[in-house]
Amino acid sequence: MGAGLFGITSALLLSRDGWNVRLVEQRPSIMSGASGNNIFRLHRGYHYPRSIETAVASQESEIQFVGEYGDAVIYSSEHLYAISKSDSLTSAEDFLAHCRTISLPFTKVENPIFRRGSVDLVVRAEEARIDPRALITICKQKLRESEVDVRCGTGVTPELATQFDFLVLANNSGINDTASALDLPVPVRQYELCEVAVVDRVPVGDRDIVVMDGGFISLSPFGRAPGKYLLYDVVNSVQSTQVSAICQLHPEHAYRDQWEESIPSSFDAMKANACQFLEGFENVRRCRSLWSIRTVLPNVDATDERPTTVEWLAPTVLSVFSGKLGTSVVAGRKVVEELQNS
Ligand SMILES: Cc1cc2nc3c(=O)[nH]c(=O)nc-3n(C[C@H](O)[C@H](O)[C@H](O)COP(=O)(O)OP(=O)(O)OC[C@H]3O[C@@H](n4cnc5c(N)ncnc54)[C@H](O)[C@@H]3O)c2cc1C
Repeated sequence: MGAGLFGITSALLLSRDGWNVRLVEQRPSIMSGASGNNIFRLHRGYHYPRSIETAVASQESEIQFVGEYGDAVIYSSEHLYAISKSDSLTSAEDFLAHCRTISLPFTKVENPIFRRGSVDLVVRAEEARIDPRALITICKQKLRESEVDVRCGTGVTPELATQFDFLVLANNSGINDTASALDLPVPVRQYELCEVAVVDRVPVGDRDIVVMDGGFISLSPFGRAPGKYLLYDVVNSVQSTQVSAICQLHPEHAYRDQWEESIPSSFDAMKANACQFLEGFENVRRCRSLWSIRTVLPNVDATDERPTTVEWLAPTVLSVFSGKLGTSVVAGRKVVEELQNS
């Protein structure tokens, strides 16, 4: 249930294992939720100096992800991680120690694009990004070539659920909603309505940039779209936050990828923040925004951890709580293993 990357991957792997799978998606098309509206960084662990578990899970899952979706992965850009001079939750020394601890390759570089005095450290990292268009194309093609019965534009009702031997909930911010309709326990989650601005006139070349660690910025080329970048700001991109069992953020907002007058953009604040760090950012222009709901564990601001978990909610109901995109294939394999052993 849920045709985001985790639902699609689980469905494909189950089908290959011989299961009869129906993939149900409430939106008109696949990849319309967080999987189609994020920053598309294929994390290797640099981003998570405060959660070694998330860093290692990202690092270890990359090879499986590339095995399945490699044609969507772009390794060519320069990836720069910088530590802000002020208010960073991770110091330059801590960041370097983190890289060494889990053997993440890095090269210290002379500050090529950052404002003088804004950052303490800049390293070139070896990381990749994902081209969203290519990823969606691959998913569609793999689903077409598979035996998976894909049904978009329809949700799972408790009645429908009874027609199947197993239900795999991979519907992200909707997992608890479905679980509660099935009378299953629902843990508290943190839901965040997020905006990622698609921008142009960006003076950084083919570079992928992160300033961390805390309320800072991320700027990435937007897949292979020429001249387009994705700007995200850890504070200003989060439009609203809700800590509760059931997500009540407006779902109709969460799947828009076009600018709507009804959704106030935080681009001006994001740009002002980015201008503190990047030279020549004043001329950057927003083309549109991507919107989605991020679902994370509550009260993890200190570590910023993003685990991916596959667990049974009931004897026939398995849930896939997703962390980073790169872990989707590992999670799908775990789903197959759990069902084989059930
Ligand atoms: C702003 C932002 C930036 C991010 N950046 C990155 C990044 O750079 N790198 C990275 O690795 N990760 C990133 N992430 C995290 C990543 O995008 C998500 O963890 C991942 O996409 C979740 O995939 P999913 O398949 O679990 O959920 P989704 O992609 O959200 O899919 C769930 C699907 O379930 C459907 N659904 C919901 N309820 C029902 C129902 N009742 N019936 C049927 N279908 C239903 C939804 O419509 C949706 O299509 C980011 C997330 C956000 C929000």
